[in-house]
Amino acid sequence: MSANNVPNPAVPDTGGSSGLGYPALFYFLPGLGLQARLFIWCSYNRIRFDGVVMSAVRRFPRRMSGGVYFGPADWRAKKWAIAPTPIPQAAAAGVAAINNRDTLLALLRGVALGKTDRVTPALADQLVSLGQSPVRLLVLNLLPSQPESALAAALTDLALAHLRAGLTLLDMALRANQQLIAVDRHDQRTVKIWRDLASSHNLQIKPLLGKYPLAHPLVLFRVLCRRWAVNYAAPAAAGLLVVDPVTCWALGRAAAGEARLTHRPVQVVVQGLEPVLAMARIGEPLRDLLTRLGFPTADMECIAGGMLSGQLVNPADAVIEPYTDVLALRPSPRPEPSADCIGCGWCVQACPTALNPAAILADAGMRAAMPLAHLYEAVGCIDCGLCTYLCPSRLPLAATIGNIKRSLTALPAAKPSPAPGSLSVQESI
Ligand code: SF4
Ligand code: SF4
Repeated sequence: MSANNVPNPAVPDTGGSSGLGYPALFYFLPGLGLQARLFIWCSYNRIRFDGVVMSAVRRFPRRMSGGVYFGPADWRAKKWAIAPTPIPQAAAAGVAAINNRDTLLALLRGVALGKTDRVTPALADQLVSLGQSPVRLLVLNLLPSQPESALAAALTDLALAHLRAGLTLLDMALRANQQLIAVDRHDQRTVKIWRDLASSHNLQIKPLLGKYPLAHPLVLFRVLCRRWAVNYAAPAAAGLLVVDPVTCWALGRAAAGEARLTHRPVQVVVQGLEPVLAMARIGEPLRDLLTRLGFPTADMECIAGGMLSGQLVNPADAVIEPYTDVLALRPSPRPEPSADCIGCGWCVQACPTALNPAAILADAGMRAAMPLAHLYEAVGCIDCGLCTYLCPSRLPLAATIGNIKRSLTALPAAKPSPAPGSLSVQESI
């Protein structure tokens, strides 16, 4: 597969021939020798004699392992807990002129639309990585970025018009070869809404089993395009742009006349209570938002960005960032000591980047003698937090690997440095 050859994710990989080709008819001719039959069989299965083994092996792409399916997030209140600010209805002057990527880039900067999701790079950064290459695939990523996140489903329900306007604007500006909606296939309501829309638009729906952290752009790149990358610019450089629902919604608002992104939807999850959606002001102290929503903050831990990979924050100090999607509140847990690794392998099985967290942790203590392979493996960690979540011995796997990664990437020599013009992409096999 060449570097620019992104497979068509809308076409299911059947792993075999696509129909009854004419050589199959000759196969049944009487009197043919074994070699002739083998030749016909190989032609029918598109296996070339000069590379029989590799052609056959390529039919079985490396197993897309890892991840855990938590099910669609619970979201019953079909309304905003705090209503969005009204959007001026007058169309913004100049939005109609967004018909190429330069004008789109100018619009993104004009409305201060940067990173609106914790893991997805800002659309402007992706456009810079894309350069003048064609957009082969534009993905509206409606998969849950965190197990408890229902933002995509909520925006589909409450702000579908803005999502559609955002998609139309992206279509006008980017002229992507394909537009794909990636959605959790068990979120049947969202799938149905987008399926109905797809029939009247140039859209394809890709229902996937939304195993966390499939929404991470590097994991999505691997699943859709069957290519590995550790560099966040690699998917864009290969022609894949990933747009999270909040960016698409904000673009739709820009098309409707909203000047700047001043508010964003935030989902607040409190243990034992029904999750709510609120339109929060960017820069607003978390404590103000939680007080307005009537949630207690005393004796509660506040985790910004999701329970698995978010950060513990102090609501009195922390503010809503443009990429704050989920706030989780829970009573402060009693600290529980870690035990020894029991070698269950759950962390290895779940790791979406095929690392061996147990082995890396075991070697982390003797850092000086740590195998180089483990050191550089750690760079591929995407901080999803699954290994720590699953570990029955409560070992601090993700934090340790994250520390190794940060210490490595802080060293200029340790940074992966692709040769000019090449991609940090490895083929899946
Ligand atoms: S935090 Fe890193 S090592 Fe742990 S499961 Fe996620 S990607 Fe793998
Ligand atoms: S999940 Fe925990 S106990 Fe199991 S192999 Fe990994 S580090 Fe060891």
